[in-house]
Amino acid sequence: MKRKLIYLLSVMLLLSLGSYGAIKINGENKQYKGEGLTIVTSFYPMYIAALNIADGIDGVQVMNLTENQTGCVHDYQLTTKDMRTLSGAQVVILNGGEMEEFMESVLDQQEGIQVIDSSAGMEFLTGSTHEHNHEEESNQQESSHVHNHSDINGHVWLNVERYMKQIQTITDGLCKIDPLHEGMYRKNEEKYLEKLESLKIELESLKEITSGAEIIIFHDSFAYLAEELGMEVVHAVNTDGETALSAGEIAEVVEEIKLHDISFLFTEEQYEHTIAERIEAETNATAYVMDSLVTGGLDKNSYIKGMKKNIEILKEAFAVKSK
Ligand SMILES: [Zn+2]
Repeated sequence: MKRKLIYLLSVMLLLSLGSYGAIKINGENKQYKGEGLTIVTSFYPMYIAALNIADGIDGVQVMNLTENQTGCVHDYQLTTKDMRTLSGAQVVILNGGEMEEFMESVLDQQEGIQVIDSSAGMEFLTGSTHEHNHEEESNQQESSHVHNHSDINGHVWLNVERYMKQIQTITDGLCKIDPLHEGMYRKNEEKYLEKLESLKIELESLKEITSGAEIIIFHDSFAYLAEELGMEVVHAVNTDGETALSAGEIAEVVEEIKLHDISFLFTEEQYEHTIAERIEAETNATAYVMDSLVTGGLDKNSYIKGMKKNIEILKEAFAVKSK
C-alpha cells in the first residue's frame, strides 16, 4: 500500500515536473532572449511591412504564410504547409479588417502565438457599392454573386497615411513582445516611416489634380487610394475572380460612366481586363492598370516602388484628361 502510494506520488511529481518544464519553455520563448524569433505574416503587404521593421536584426526571422504571388486573400484556404509555418511562429502579423478570416479559427487554437493586428483601432471604409449590388439582386432574380463578403473594406494599406499607422502598430507590438530588440525595431521604423512620409507628401501634391474626380474601380482596394487622393468612387466593380459580371451590371456601369462623365477606370493585373476593355469600348473612359501592392518579390522597398508607379500612372491619366 505504502509502496503504491510512493509510486503514485513519484508519478505525480514527474508529471508535474514535466508540465513545469513545458511551461518554463513557453515562458522562455515569450521573453525571447534573442534566440530566434519567428514572425509570420498573413500576406504580402504585411510581409513587406515586417521585412522593413525587422530588417537586419540577428535571430529575428520574417516568413510569409501565403505565397508572395497569392494576391488578396479573400477566399484563401490554409494548406498543410501553412499550418506547419504557423506552428513555428511566435508572432503573427495580420492586416485585420476581416482580411484574414481564413486564419481566425486556427489562431484561436494556437496557444502561445502572439497576434499583432496592424489595423487595430482603425475605422474602415465600407463597401457601399456592395450594398448597392445586393439591393439590386434582391429585386432581380437570385444571383450567384451574393456570397459572404462583409461590407468592411479591409484594404487599408493602399492609403499611405493609414499604412504608416499600421507600421507604427506593428512596431509597438514587436517592441512589447521582443523588448530586447526595441532599439533596432524603432530605428527601422523611423527609417521606413521617413520614406513613406515623402510618398505621402507626393500624394498630397497629386491631390491638387485628383481631388473630386469620379472614378470606377475594379477592386475595393483602390477605394483607399481614392480616399487619400480625394477621389470619389462611383462604383466598385466586384471582379474577385470567381464570379463573372452580369450583363446587367456591365450595362449599369456603362450608364453610370455616361451619367457622371467618368474618365477613369482603375483595374489591376491580378484580375481579368476583359470587362474593363468592354466598358472602355462602349464609353469615353480609359482603363488604367494599377497595383494593389499585394504581390511582388523579396525587395523590401516594393511597397514604395509600387506606389510610386501608381503615382506615375495617375499623373499620366490626369495629364491625358487635361489635354
Ligand atoms: Zn482585395
